[in-house]
Amino acid sequence: MALEEIFPFIYGVRILYVNAFLLAEDEAITLVDSGLANREGTFLRALSEIKHSPGELKHIVLTHHHTDHAGNLAALVEASGADVWAHPLEAPIVRGTVPLPRSNPKSIMLKMLWPLVGRLSIYGRLAPAPVDHEVADGEELPIGGGLKVVHTPGHTSGHIAVLMPRHGGVLFVGDAATNILGLRPPLGMSTLDMAQAKDSIRKLGELEFETACFGHGGVLKGKANAAFRRFVEKLAR
Ligand SMILES: [Zn+2]
Ligand SMILES: [Zn+2]
Repeated sequence: MALEEIFPFIYGVRILYVNAFLLAEDEAITLVDSGLANREGTFLRALSEIKHSPGELKHIVLTHHHTDHAGNLAALVEASGADVWAHPLEAPIVRGTVPLPRSNPKSIMLKMLWPLVGRLSIYGRLAPAPVDHEVADGEELPIGGGLKVVHTPGHTSGHIAVLMPRHGGVLFVGDAATNILGLRPPLGMSTLDMAQAKDSIRKLGELEFETACFGHGGVLKGKANAAFRRFVEKLAR
């Protein structure tokens, strides 16, 4: 496990290729995303490493339902009793009341790679978990220092990014974009609607934030919004 301190009491928790984020500035700890499946122990160890007990984890915000982001949700809710926050379009998938959508039905690549990626647990089965709070675009949540919800559809229909107003603005991007060898749109193979995903990147470019934390790739620290605006210009070309 790699636990990275981004700001005091704000940590990245990396499992293989995916990041989740622990916000521990306040008494009630918030987790943004919950990592690859069957790794709840990683989060429990991360909590103990920062001298907190599982019961102090009070909130889990999900950017989207993909199992590399919602993987340990049921187990972590069980261990901590945390409330879950997600967009209404993701909530029924997380609860298991509607089947897991195949990410990009048009992707030939996905059809070819299905036997392999199915096994990588990116698209694997998700243990049903509760969603206690359905959140809307623009909503300010009473957790994590007033996290602001930004609906960023495209990668999935109910994908959200969340903006923390502290520290000059810290944007938790989820899979709305990645930062692997520079800013990039999300992986086509696992993205429902790429045109919509690019519109969502434009929407993120209009926000004010100094730092951006990604589901995949390193943290962008300092003038991260300027980097997003350059990226938006590049997408338009
Ligand atoms: Zn995803
Ligand atoms: Zn992902």
